[in-house]
Amino acid sequence: MNKLLDVENLTLQFDTDEGRITAVDNVSFDLEAGEVMGLVGESGSGKSVTAKSLMKLNARNAVYSDETGVKLHLESGEIEIMSLNTSAEMQVVRGGAISMIFQEPMASFAPAISIGDQMVEQLMIHTDMNKKQSKQLSIEMLERVGISDAATRFNQYAFELSGGMRQRAMIAMALSTKPKLLIADEPTTALDVTIQAQVIDLMKDLVEEFGMGIIFITHDLGVVAQTADKVAVMYLGRIVEQGTVRDVIRRPAHPYTKGLLAALPRLDDLDSPLVPIPGDIPSPLERPPGCVFSTRCGVAIEGRCTVDVPKFVELGDGHRVACHLPLAELTGS
Ligand code: SF4
Repeated sequence: MNKLLDVENLTLQFDTDEGRITAVDNVSFDLEAGEVMGLVGESGSGKSVTAKSLMKLNARNAVYSDETGVKLHLESGEIEIMSLNTSAEMQVVRGGAISMIFQEPMASFAPAISIGDQMVEQLMIHTDMNKKQSKQLSIEMLERVGISDAATRFNQYAFELSGGMRQRAMIAMALSTKPKLLIADEPTTALDVTIQAQVIDLMKDLVEEFGMGIIFITHDLGVVAQTADKVAVMYLGRIVEQGTVRDVIRRPAHPYTKGLLAALPRLDDLDSPLVPIPGDIPSPLERPPGCVFSTRCGVAIEGRCTVDVPKFVELGDGHRVACHLPLAELTGS
């Protein structure tokens, strides 16, 4: 597989009335073409802000550190996203090389413009197709995502479609320009389970067909286990564990990842109690010193975890964990 994306030392702060707050802290990961990476964590962990940084889509008060590097490797050459400034420069990336789909499709579609007109407009901006070709491809894409009577739906407005259909229409629009990287932000959370499974299957098929890379943002490790090749677990703006799905889900090492997995319902043992992680993720304004998880960690080491920021420990095959616990305790060996 070919390298598609390199994110290095991504650090993002926001200037607010309460001062400058850190939303993403020194995050690094990479992605190959045809690979799916799950970005996992609770609300407030920094997943969406991280993903939006890949398109510089964050609000105007966002401040990226000088060390931040986000490199997109395309056949036509490399693009350093952080060095793009004008909207013309950004247009190559936004909706072109990178597409994003959101949890709530109503946020992506303009309410007063038909689905079809929005799809055609995007294609005419990002490809050299004419209007007729754009319309034809848009209808084809709506059919591809399983929307029946696509030619009629093409002329409808977002509010006229059911939730599942809107989600699929958004995926069709996001994929019609054949992006190299698709960022899917909680794309199935608002859907019922049957539609959720269909959307996941569809995305897997499309990865194979188009060889694109996908970053799949979710709070649900179960969905990641079904869809992703590798996973990064985030907490309060930091990656605390990353590796292949097999390693992170079968052999979780970080206390937070273990907590997320213990909180999942078990279909093989419906009587087993759900064990939620105690407490809430702190506000970025009250970021704990040392390990960001220390305020909720049941195995924190006194005098160390609240003082020192843990460095990554390599466990092999790209599996790494940021925790002060001794190796034997992390790996359970
Ligand atoms: Fe818990 Fe300490 Fe590990 Fe953080 S570094 S997860 S507080 S043991």
